[in-house]
Amino acid sequence: MSFPITKIVVHCSATQNGKLLRTKTHTSAQVIDGWHAKRGFKRRANPPIFNPHLPHIGYHFVIDTDGTVETGRQVGEIGAHVKGHNAGSIGICLVGGISIDGKNFGRYTAKQWQALHKLLRELEAKFPRAKICGHRDLSPDLNHDGKITSNEWLKDCPCFDVWEWLDSGEVINTDHLFNE
Ligand SMILES: [Zn+2]
Repeated sequence: MSFPITKIVVHCSATQNGKLLRTKTHTSAQVIDGWHAKRGFKRRANPPIFNPHLPHIGYHFVIDTDGTVETGRQVGEIGAHVKGHNAGSIGICLVGGISIDGKNFGRYTAKQWQALHKLLRELEAKFPRAKICGHRDLSPDLNHDGKITSNEWLKDCPCFDVWEWLDSGEVINTDHLFNE
């Protein structure tokens, strides 16, 4: 079953800024597929026809720190990336988001900004009515419990203001650039 695309949602992997997620044996999408398997995410067709090596991943795209863009779920296939908005949305995951010193959240490499910008332009051309936003922009209960919990860090995803960046017209978000 396929849904009309109404939202494009940007996420982060909540891993160390600037650090490749890909390993010698696994692509970044395969690493995330493993995380999502543990969380019990499962694509409807199993094995799926599109990317059968990724039976669990919740996102449609993953952008590693070297700018490599990988596909996950097929565009139009329901995702598993944002509660309440999975039907009709596309989930894009930027690798990174967390800093080891705890100070600079949401820093992405120039190659990631370029890749994200290009991907969003392509998706916008295909789905002109889709609204682009960050995961945190879809949090219904943001700041409603008055407590800072590890759960809230996830709601800060993707750790930068997507609308502010898009409005700036800049490809590279210099305030959120990972300096290599
Ligand atoms: Zn997210």
